[in-house]
Amino acid sequence: MQEIYLDYNASTPVHPEILQDILYSMHTIFANPSSQHKSGKSASLAITNARCNIARYISADANEIIFTSSATEAINLAIYSVLYQQKILNNKKKYKLLYAATEHKCVSNALNHWNKILQLDYEIVELPVNEDGQVILDILQEELPLALMLCTMAVNNETGIITNLKVIKDSINKHNKDVFWLVDSVQALGKIDIDFKGLGVSYASFSGHKIHAPKGCGVLYVKNKNPLFPMFCGEQENKYRAGTENVPAIIGFDKALMIIEKNKHLPKNLFKYRNMIINSLTKVFPNIQINNNYHTIVPTVINFSVPGFLSKELINIFGIFNIRVAAGSACGALNSKSYVIDAMNLGQQRAEGAIRMSFSIFANYNNIMQLCKRIALIGRELNNYKKIYETKRHQYLLHNQTPVIRFNYNGINSWIIINNEQCIVIDPIVELKDKLLNFITNNQLKTIAIMNTHGYVDYINYTQDLRNKLEVIIDSDDVDILGWPINEKYLCNINIEGMQYSALLLAQDNVIIKVPTPGYTNDSVSFIVAKARDGVLLESQFVFTGGNILIEDLGRANFKISNVNKLYESIENILKLVDNNCIICPTYDCKNLFATTMKVEQKANSLIANVLLKQQDIFLSRTKEVDLFSEERYFQEIATKVYEPKNCIISNVDAKDIINKEKYLLIDTREAIIHANDVKIKQLSKIIGVNKNSFFNVPFIHIANFMSYCINSFDTNMHLLFICNSGLTSVYVASAFRRLGFINSNSISLEILEEFNSDAENNYEIYV
Ligand code: PLP
Repeated sequence: MQEIYLDYNASTPVHPEILQDILYSMHTIFANPSSQHKSGKSASLAITNARCNIARYISADANEIIFTSSATEAINLAIYSVLYQQKILNNKKKYKLLYAATEHKCVSNALNHWNKILQLDYEIVELPVNEDGQVILDILQEELPLALMLCTMAVNNETGIITNLKVIKDSINKHNKDVFWLVDSVQALGKIDIDFKGLGVSYASFSGHKIHAPKGCGVLYVKNKNPLFPMFCGEQENKYRAGTENVPAIIGFDKALMIIEKNKHLPKNLFKYRNMIINSLTKVFPNIQINNNYHTIVPTVINFSVPGFLSKELINIFGIFNIRVAAGSACGALNSKSYVIDAMNLGQQRAEGAIRMSFSIFANYNNIMQLCKRIALIGRELNNYKKIYETKRHQYLLHNQTPVIRFNYNGINSWIIINNEQCIVIDPIVELKDKLLNFITNNQLKTIAIMNTHGYVDYINYTQDLRNKLEVIIDSDDVDILGWPINEKYLCNINIEGMQYSALLLAQDNVIIKVPTPGYTNDSVSFIVAKARDGVLLESQFVFTGGNILIEDLGRANFKISNVNKLYESIENILKLVDNNCIICPTYDCKNLFATTMKVEQKANSLIANVLLKQQDIFLSRTKEVDLFSEERYFQEIATKVYEPKNCIISNVDAKDIINKEKYLLIDTREAIIHANDVKIKQLSKIIGVNKNSFFNVPFIHIANFMSYCINSFDTNMHLLFICNSGLTSVYVASAFRRLGFINSNSISLEILEEFNSDAENNYEIYV
């Protein structure tokens, strides 16, 4: 399947005509432009020509154009120059440096850096924007009088929104004519015309690789007589930007502008193309939210979110159909969000799910049609995989008749317990509402009840709204304040250690037992998912400990409604009630360790050890101590950190070694739809000889079940090799399994794993 690249705002392929010119220049105009001989002179002439053409294109004078290596360097040069001038003037006035909240990160980074390096200590002010992405003028006008510099971009790279520079100019005229104004114009070049001279812009930045020229050439426009000081010194560019010029890239930049001028008619169709793409996306994602639905945009960008999906998940879904889209955020982190969509106040969910599709100004109808067809394919496959929970696809789930599904948002978990075609929701939080709803409706589950392990102290619970959106079997009149059934017809009594506990009856001898466990809050309860017959507990599988027992930690016990003494007693009781291998499913999990067991916690968590050893006094004093220093509490208690994520990444050579062993599991932690559609992974398993029974797909939401399965099925020396695209997400799973005692748990990137195949014989055909 051919790759469809939709990340033109990040970088563009070099245009074939430009490539031709560059190749020619590399052979013929290769001399050093500073050399005095004829060859050198022709290189220097090429630069002069380019400078004049670029100046003409943006209506500037040739001596106002400085070639740099990138727009980032151009922006740094402008900011450095403005600040360095104040430094040498020894001006004691405390200025402000203003930038719009949606600027490219290099702007705020450069302002902070040079302000610090030059020890000016000016106040740096981020100017908020409104929902349209425009700087809020009242605030700009308030800040302008004390401002030395103002940075506002011409076109935003994530949304394509065109900044209204004219109204900013009016504010400057009214409130501070002396302010140095930098307009980062990287995403505007070739897409809109800007009258830099007429607007009185002091500096503007441009970049070649965004307009089909190669990387390595940026441009700074410096309006005559504005400060300009070199960041590093030498002779070139009138001593303002030293270093032998990158002649081929400069020639490429020049040629790109020529091609753009020649094709001025092209943008006419771009809005039509944008609409075609949006229509295709809407068919696949009917609840799509377009984040840049404005008239004032360049047409080549679609920024959208889909409720229930994080950017990372959508990138993966498009990725398996070889469509390359970008997130508005750095996707390395498990939870990350677009600061641009965030600044526009479009809501957390949209910021966390923002996807940017950016296409070329040279796109044509056929390209776009091909893309639309590919998007339709995604729709078909998503429908096939709506049932993300399905025992046929996840054989390890058969082990438990009551699998539990974990949804996590910024360290807070909501859980779903499944029993046949029914489910129970535990601790739903508002941030996970779309994920929970999608899961329940896509899997056609009937909701028995929505229950909470405690009343909420410092975040928003979603029980009532979720109830309104789902048909919940147990009526709201039949539950208590935490959602536990009070109507006897749903309940039975379970006798454990001579005590009677209320339990919710599920199918096939499965029950959920409620245990009052005050501590974290006065009203805290724990839920034990267990097998029971005739009122007797047979086996406990999962325990939902809410905010009391966390992984390697206890919940804080210093709320007004907390009680440390009761927390001690509650832990003592839970220790008595559940089996050692019972999986603890907490409501808080800041370190992404997923779940744990009683057995592991007794070792890893010294406060629990205190309870086991009946050291109540020590427990009480130490709990108070850790509550005081709550931010330092994580990982304080651990004797060994062999399971720290960085220790769990292995090389392809080690992976090969593991796969040659007899006993191992290879576990793809990506979503079921990604796993099922990844042709490469199927071939890979064949080639490297992975036995079908050793190859699992365990998406993140299923990890607690897989833990239960592994604990009950394998020795702890079993080799578990977790994979995902980068190996950086699956590493969290590997480290969580090491905690559980599976010391041979490791993670590797799929790409690296594929690499070691390249030395296997005759296996190339799958990679072409
Ligand atoms: N400014 C904007 C708006 C951009 O989109 C980019 C690149 O993504 C830059 C600045 C930095 O450009 P360069 O890659 O040339 O440093």
